[in-house]
Amino acid sequence: MVSVLVDNIGELVTNDAQHGDGAPLGLLRDAALMVEGDRVAWVGERRFAPAADTHVDVAGAAVIPGFVDSHAHLVFAGDRAQEFAARMEGRAYSAGGIQTTVAATRASSDEMLAGNVARLVAEMQRQGTTTVEIKSGYGLTVSDEARSLAVAAQFTDETTYLGAHVVAPEYADDPAAYIDLVTGPMLDAVRPYARWIDVFCERGAFDADQARAILAAGAAAGLHARIHANQLGHGPGIGVACEIGAASADHCTFTTPDDLDNLAQSGVVATLLPGVEFSTRSPYPDARAMIAAGVTVALATDCNPGSCYTSSMPLCVALAVREMRMAPAEALWSATAGGAKALRREDIGRLEVGLRADFSVLAAPSYVHLAYRPGVPLMHAVYRGGQPIA
Ligand SMILES: [Zn+2]
Repeated sequence: MVSVLVDNIGELVTNDAQHGDGAPLGLLRDAALMVEGDRVAWVGERRFAPAADTHVDVAGAAVIPGFVDSHAHLVFAGDRAQEFAARMEGRAYSAGGIQTTVAATRASSDEMLAGNVARLVAEMQRQGTTTVEIKSGYGLTVSDEARSLAVAAQFTDETTYLGAHVVAPEYADDPAAYIDLVTGPMLDAVRPYARWIDVFCERGAFDADQARAILAAGAAAGLHARIHANQLGHGPGIGVACEIGAASADHCTFTTPDDLDNLAQSGVVATLLPGVEFSTRSPYPDARAMIAAGVTVALATDCNPGSCYTSSMPLCVALAVREMRMAPAEALWSATAGGAKALRREDIGRLEVGLRADFSVLAAPSYVHLAYRPGVPLMHAVYRGGQPIA
């Protein structure tokens, strides 16, 4: 196997606490990283680096683990720019919201949907994302959810069935019948393509008992649970996530001290999506209280055409620092190792021997620049499985 030594790294973020001062980022200065095949083969100070077949000199730049974007809705058609403009201008706007996207998605060919996902995944990769979770949820029929997940599976192993995004318009008068569909024929149809099951547990969407029933049916079919919880108000979503042992409760914008204790005790990751609060001009989640309570925090984009149409993990890091008062180190950890925990992945999110060689070389001397220089394209090169992808 050919070995490649990425050499002359000014600042290497490993997320391996055995390095550096014991802080979670595991920082090394004047470091090098050796890749063999798609794996990390060696990490350390460059003066101790082993011989390698080839060298890449990064001239003192910072190197960070690839971002793990653990929450994205990429299978859809159309956009909702006019709705966004109206919201920003404080104008009333009475289009269909999510139903606009559902109608456009149903009317699209598989090729159009896949083309849109390919465009968004490429956009994410250029910004340093090397793993992305992709949800369905804009089909809401058996065939449209199944093909949404078949498309998602072309791009990632982290596919999530979100038939329980909202009640499909055809079932507006009979939500119980829609839940029967989601937990029956629709679940059977998506099962070959889905790893996870998700539910939007919120007033106006699905309540706690409905969420329990949907996630239990998913578990019986071998799908692991994650939940959209406590985005629009206080509610039972976080409690359900902790009770059933979901991998992650996502949003967590409205939390009580009991919710935070519950998350910390159960080990359920709180995935914060600050791009949503930014794009909807809403209050941010209390990340400091979560960290103080011992909750594991992840950061993700929630890229979707309605509430947050950004694909940028660097923007989310900058927002987490500026708006949620996370330290730059906390935000970067949450966007990499935290995302891996939210997806229960042990092979990504850190740069340790034996793990997948997913990393970015920054056009900057320190990871702090991700928050210090918001909006600036700082990815010099992005590698996934040891191969340059951007
Ligand atoms: Zn979402």
